[in-house]
Amino acid sequence: MAPELAHEEILAWLRCDDPQLLERLWELADRERTHRVGDCVHLRGLVEISNHCERSCTYCGISTANAALGRYRMSRDEIMACARQAVLFGYGTIVLQAGEDPGLETQWVADLVGDIKGATGLAVTLSLGERSPDELALWRASGADRYLLRFETSDRELFRRIHPPPKDRNACDRIALLRTIKALGYETGSGIMVGIPGQTFESIARDLALFRELDLDMIGIGPWIAHPASPLCREGAPDADADQVPATEQMACIVVALARLVCPEANIPSTTALATINSLHGRAHGLTRGANVCMPNLTPPQYRCLYEIYPNKAGSSSTPEQSHRSVLATLAALGRPAGQGPGSRSA
Ligand code: SAH
Repeated sequence: MAPELAHEEILAWLRCDDPQLLERLWELADRERTHRVGDCVHLRGLVEISNHCERSCTYCGISTANAALGRYRMSRDEIMACARQAVLFGYGTIVLQAGEDPGLETQWVADLVGDIKGATGLAVTLSLGERSPDELALWRASGADRYLLRFETSDRELFRRIHPPPKDRNACDRIALLRTIKALGYETGSGIMVGIPGQTFESIARDLALFRELDLDMIGIGPWIAHPASPLCREGAPDADADQVPATEQMACIVVALARLVCPEANIPSTTALATINSLHGRAHGLTRGANVCMPNLTPPQYRCLYEIYPNKAGSSSTPEQSHRSVLATLAALGRPAGQGPGSRSA
């Protein structure tokens, strides 16, 4: 077991801005990563299957607030072609992500998961937002291996503000839903955005404690990136609040490194948001500061530019081939091999 970091120690790292001390944190996280999960970087092919969304999350660029955005939903055949591409690229996992789209009907998704498993044997990860325990159970029975649902922030009041429930529904308790997902036998992923206006250092320290409490298999962490069409962007950060967490690359890397120390065995991606906020080094920084997973984008170019959860998303005008090569180039530069097989937490 890793020696447990005390709450005060975590807070001190979160507030740290000293480059020399931070070098020490990166080393600690990188050493822990090597020791616990090895040097291989697992590649998950990401397919953004629909940008329809019935939610009005104030942080997100594809929410209902963005009336100007063209909407798409990929067909079964288009998604199957992406799955075959993932196999050709040597990935062990396909991740199907979308807005909260009721048009992705329960049985249609179940059939799709079954077809992908039957045709490719890939591990299938779903990230389709808040869906009912019955739907989640059916998809699990159809062969889905993993589910990703970030709780975004453990500060319930802040979460309620940035993630209002639809008019005719009660607020969903994402943390309770994550426990259900785990109980259904999914490998369970969650995570947060770093630097949400109103988010404090104390609140991130509690997020890290919750990662551990939930015993997460996967933890995704990225900086919040303002989308001009999102209400939260117009609202901005509270002025001169010393406790406001900055939405910077360095801050997101500190949280990635601490997540590695707090949950040493978890699969932790170097996220697209990190690669967006620092287009030259973001992905490599994630991988040398605790992360062990990359998610190259396999979404066809005509759709990926519309999955605009934040602006200038890394790779938003690239082809799957270009995204693949770009990730491989990062791994080659770091001397890190691509993982083989599904890359489950326990494998
Ligand atoms: N509808 C799904 C998938 C959402 S997109 C769901 O809600 O789970 C996946 C993740 O992108 C979100 O969980 C959120 O953490 C992140 N995200 C959304 N908007 C963002 C923004 N403006 N900046 C950074 N990350 C963002």
